[in-house]
Amino acid sequence: MIDEGYVKYQCHWVNSPSITREEIEDLNQWRNQFYQLGLIGQYDNGIGFGNVSIRCLDNPHQFIISGTKTGGLEQLTEKQYTLVTDYNWQENWLTCRGLIEASSEALTHAAVYTANPNINAVIHVHHLQLWKTLMNKVPTTAENIPYGTPEMAQEIIRLCQMGNLKEAKILVMRGHEEGIIAFGRNLDEAGNLLLLMFKQNDYELIKN
Ligand SMILES: [Zn+2]
Repeated sequence: MIDEGYVKYQCHWVNSPSITREEIEDLNQWRNQFYQLGLIGQYDNGIGFGNVSIRCLDNPHQFIISGTKTGGLEQLTEKQYTLVTDYNWQENWLTCRGLIEASSEALTHAAVYTANPNINAVIHVHHLQLWKTLMNKVPTTAENIPYGTPEMAQEIIRLCQMGNLKEAKILVMRGHEEGIIAFGRNLDEAGNLLLLMFKQNDYELIKN
């Protein structure tokens, strides 16, 4: 079941420029790298997948995230990112300001930030083989929890509080086929972890 691309929360969107090129430079470099690897992209049915975010260090409740329906675009600019200014994942709403609405998975990112004050970057990708490899080897969300719902946010917070996720910094979304989330104290930590997992997985497949 691949149902990404549909925003399930209530989005209060202020359509106004709010992101500078400098603010998203590193984030966009990582995003484009994962696009090149096929971990962010678009399915044949036209639905995009994969999204990235960074916490705003001057306001820890806010974060910048790639916009909705951007997965299939080869290159993004600051126009395809938006600033999440407020949210409440229990009540299933968020407010964002930018030239595009936030990704359908923005509240999942919000849950990671809420549960981990030291985490400042979140990368969500899709990859069937890596998803299968990592399932139950790293913290894995319970079955039948769909993406982009308060239940998924609650489940991620539960996993984060179990402790091992603090070291692992990667989780599998079992009820969201192909879905993986990596995060870190900064972008490089999150990006390099995911890259390492991806390359190791490739290597194991070749070896076997
Ligand atoms: Zn997804």
